Amino acid sequence: MRERQVHGAHAVDITPIVPPAGPIDSSDAPQEAGGSSGLGKVAAPSQESGGSPGPGEVAAPPAEAGGNRAADTRALTSGDVRLRYGFGTDVGLLRELNEDSFVAAEPVFAIADGMGGHEAGEVASSICVRTLAASGIPGSGYARVTVGDLEELIERADHAIRDEAGGDAGTTLTGVVLVEESAAPHWLFFNVGDSRAYRMSNDTFGQITVDHSEVQELVDTGQLTEEQARTHPRRNVVTRALGAGDDTEADFWLLPVEQGDRLLLCSDGLSGEVTDEQICGILSLAGDPQDACNELITAALGAGARDNVTVIVVDATSGGTAGSGAPAAPVRGFFAADGVDPTG
Ligand code: CA
Repeated sequence: MRERQVHGAHAVDITPIVPPAGPIDSSDAPQEAGGSSGLGKVAAPSQESGGSPGPGEVAAPPAEAGGNRAADTRALTSGDVRLRYGFGTDVGLLRELNEDSFVAAEPVFAIADGMGGHEAGEVASSICVRTLAASGIPGSGYARVTVGDLEELIERADHAIRDEAGGDAGTTLTGVVLVEESAAPHWLFFNVGDSRAYRMSNDTFGQITVDHSEVQELVDTGQLTEEQARTHPRRNVVTRALGAGDDTEADFWLLPVEQGDRLLLCSDGLSGEVTDEQICGILSLAGDPQDACNELITAALGAGARDNVTVIVVDATSGGTAGSGAPAAPVRGFFAADGVDPTG
């Protein structure tokens, strides 16, 4: 079990989040899914649910967004959840190209970190993000996405990258979709490779995803500490990727949305430069999700930014508080490393 602490004047007690029962085997519904229906299709949200804002609409945050998250531990019910999010990407200080791509368009948020020789990585990550963007999920509100849907989509992206690059280019893919499961909003996380998803929830902070990487395997067997893994010469070697290699299977996690949840998605350009403790500190202190993104990228740049850095921060705020007129988070964010409009 990971142990995480934050030091400093604003230290908070951090206990690790342990995802329930590990990755979901999609053929075997998780306990949380409730009942035998598991992750099957769920009903569309009712019109009056007032859940997530529709395309082109942004829920304004409550004044206390990002404030004290310890006060209320209740899980949100359907229609209660509003998302507020920020995002950013930076080529870093050493790379010539940014091979990361991302999509941040409610209810889906994802980062693809491309790899391969001479511009191959940017092609792979861009195809991946365009496949997600073309799926109809962005802007769809929430509820209608299942593990099976995502598996199909991920397979489609894998094939599209192979068709384009002939197996010479790969990409990670890490993301989360806000879904309805058992009449309650849930985060459905997915991961292939070593980009990461973290969650800060009440007084806990932890990595949700488990890296598919050589160093993670060494950590799992006790041959490396996490700190050693962060600086290990083979830290960039992934054991699963889309578009290349034999293992393209995604892991999934389904967690109930709790009020005050703050999610972070990032490429290894962040997690390879900035410790989890530093990340937790920044997420704890930054009020607005966009501020959190900016500060995380600044921290990576300050640490040398040897790789491209991409971050998305998503806050779940309670519903019914829209309309304050406060500055809104960007409605949608797409970035394809090859420069082709992912929504086109
Ligand atoms: Ca990278």
